[in-house]
Amino acid sequence: MSESSLHIDTLAVRAGQQRSQFGEHAEALYLTSSFVFESAAQAAARFSGAEEGNVYSRFTNPTVTMFQERLAALEGAEKCVATASGMAAILATVMALLKAGDHIVAARSIFGASQQLFGTIMPRFGVETSFVPGSAPAAFKEALQPNTKLVFIETPSNPLTEVFDIAAIATVAHDAGALLIVDNCFCSPVLQRPLEYGADLIIHSATKYLDGQGRVLGGAVCGGQILVEEVFKFLRTTGPTLSAFNAWVLLKGLETLKIRMLAQSANALDLARRLEAHPTIERVFYPGLPSHPQHALAMRQQSTGGAILAFEVKGGREGSWRVIDACKMLSITANLGDVKTTLTHPASTTHGRISPEARAEAGITEGLLRIAVGLEAVDDIEADLRLGLG
Ligand SMILES: *Cc1c(COP(=O)(O)O)cnc(C)c1O
Repeated sequence: MSESSLHIDTLAVRAGQQRSQFGEHAEALYLTSSFVFESAAQAAARFSGAEEGNVYSRFTNPTVTMFQERLAALEGAEKCVATASGMAAILATVMALLKAGDHIVAARSIFGASQQLFGTIMPRFGVETSFVPGSAPAAFKEALQPNTKLVFIETPSNPLTEVFDIAAIATVAHDAGALLIVDNCFCSPVLQRPLEYGADLIIHSATKYLDGQGRVLGGAVCGGQILVEEVFKFLRTTGPTLSAFNAWVLLKGLETLKIRMLAQSANALDLARRLEAHPTIERVFYPGLPSHPQHALAMRQQSTGGAILAFEVKGGREGSWRVIDACKMLSITANLGDVKTTLTHPASTTHGRISPEARAEAGITEGLLRIAVGLEAVDDIEADLRLGLG
């Protein structure tokens, strides 16, 4: 039976597994830096590529390969290559596909380190980026230049959960001969499969939902054979590859990805409805609520509203910090994607380094809090928030 005919539930626990001669039931952890050959001729054949097989774990490792194949199956991608972190995936992609003189169009709201990479590091290598405010496909079209090679988005956005129309932006990019890259960290393939809407490559920070339990760093690039192969060539030479140990942890994370994403999304929707009714909350941002301006688009493109929501507390910073400091259970951290609910004040942490004017323009107010909802009972999460909400 071909893997593509199987359901995502099945692929998550079965795809990519290769058993050794010992017939182990669980995926094996091949904790080895290099591999030995049976003869000088075999060594030569492996190095030249005439014979398939492992040589050195900077190039390939069987545990990493199993993770790559499983994630590719979940995303419906021809190929996937794993990296040491999400940022390593983004760096490797731009270094592999671009050269001096090329141009990127990126959403203004992308992950902070991605903004830094595009805005301050890549210009040193002759690659410039235009950042587009908002999510309107027309604004992306306007930002295109004759030398634009990549369009880069992340949807829903962090922290305001703005939804980007992947199919419409893919058309804009492709009409200009550019590729569309989607950072699919917030949804994971369980909630959103960007390749089906025309994206060319998907970036993952496996550190977040793919692990799901806050243990390891990892990343991945998924997409068509030819593009992913280019990224792989860059990785095998320069080294930001995924460790076998982390790949093994992530393989196990993928097995529970669907039930976690669905349970955490259901918790987020329940919590969003309760917070929307709370008198000291000004506004709730959650794509799963009918009050979200892009609710219809979100429900077309994603299978749930996701597990991340933001809300604005009355009373500015004083009000939002009071909520954080009163919490007894929720984790005060900027991380997300964990089964433990995390609470963040974006204006003073993840978005603390950008100017107050830019923050105001982006809608990240002092009263705004972001919650990445975990698996605790919603009653308990709400009770913890109520300590400071009044
Ligand atoms: C965390 C994150 C990254 C970076 O991933 P790391 O694994 O921390 O390097 C990239 N994109 C998004 C949307 C993220 O949340």
